[in-house]
Amino acid sequence: MKALLGTVMDIRGIKENAAVLIEDRWIYDVIPGDRIGEYDVDEIFGGKDYLIIPGLINAHTHVAMTKFRGLGDDMPLNAWLNDLIWPMEREWSREEIRKWALIGLMEAVSNGSTTVNDHYFLADEIARAAQEIGVRAFIGQTVMDLVDFPLAEPGEGFKFFKRWKNNGLITPTLAPHATDTVSFSLLEEIRNFAEKENALIHIHLSQSREEVRKVRKREGLYPVEYLQKAGILNSRLIAAHGVYLKEKEIKLFARSGATLAHCPTSLAKLEGAVAPTVTLWNLGANIALGNDCAASNNSLDMIEEMKMAAILNKVKAGPDKIGARDVFYWATLGGARALDIKAGMIEKDYLADLVLINMRKPHFLPRGNPMSHLVYAAKGSDVERVFINGELIYSLGEFPKIKTSLFSL
Ligand SMILES: [Zn+2]
Repeated sequence: MKALLGTVMDIRGIKENAAVLIEDRWIYDVIPGDRIGEYDVDEIFGGKDYLIIPGLINAHTHVAMTKFRGLGDDMPLNAWLNDLIWPMEREWSREEIRKWALIGLMEAVSNGSTTVNDHYFLADEIARAAQEIGVRAFIGQTVMDLVDFPLAEPGEGFKFFKRWKNNGLITPTLAPHATDTVSFSLLEEIRNFAEKENALIHIHLSQSREEVRKVRKREGLYPVEYLQKAGILNSRLIAAHGVYLKEKEIKLFARSGATLAHCPTSLAKLEGAVAPTVTLWNLGANIALGNDCAASNNSLDMIEEMKMAAILNKVKAGPDKIGARDVFYWATLGGARALDIKAGMIEKDYLADLVLINMRKPHFLPRGNPMSHLVYAAKGSDVERVFINGELIYSLGEFPKIKTSLFSL
């Protein structure tokens, strides 16, 4: 049995001088630290000045796009996608996807992500990279039929799903690209398949004004209405962005049980916009947090994302509307609820996906409130060790399961 010692914090509160016991892939128990001698513990991590949090859940990402970091930084979204990113994406080889997915996953995990929800082409390679590092990964093969894009051939999404069903830490999803690039008939086909397989659907929603305009012109509907008409607006849907939702769409979305994967850094940078998360949250919508990709973010750091989420919502909706606890929920339980996994809390019989943060640093003083410090003062680089499924996956700059060095990739 392993034990993590320190201040234990999840959405319900804080336990000082506590120990989290890990057996196999589960949290065996959470006990006062001084009772650790009563258990058969063979490895102890952390101690005084350590913070233990649930692994962060990156609810929307494209890890392989790490290759495009720093390219076209300040272009408008449509020009960036159509003129820069998509031409490069047509050139992907399997080896390149796998290499950059692994680099992206290393970055995400080292900054505290234990689960990613990825949406991309050649998804088998993303899944193999995820297996290599040992991260919990939900992966969908991106499909679209209204844009000519060979890597996004619709049938491949279903084939990928079947290939990766029941595969340990990998859970396949269905990943229609966006409301403007996927036809109604393909969405219906995806819905039927998802119902049969109890699959999650992961899509981009109202990411740009252009997307909203195209859907209105083609379908006579707003994007959320389009998802509803296709029968996929329910608790099995994770929709990224939702920046341009109208009031009636916000109400419809909040009632549906679907999750908004909020990517505040990426959309502030690409569109200069913030999704209406405060209104959605107040109406009871589930919200999860995502980094999107290193091409638009430009990092895969969920700790930084929590701060951006809190700060940008203050700019949009007022300084007292969203606090550290709300965004910590989005980054933990909100994601776990979206993906239907027993994670996001530090509790007996929850998955042992845990992050150990070293607080022996000036920016954690005075000790004060760890929830505030985690969201507003901590950095991804404060993460010292990451446990996924009970296993030590990241430890002091190293990835024990990966044989090659990051810089020789
Ligand atoms: Zn995206």
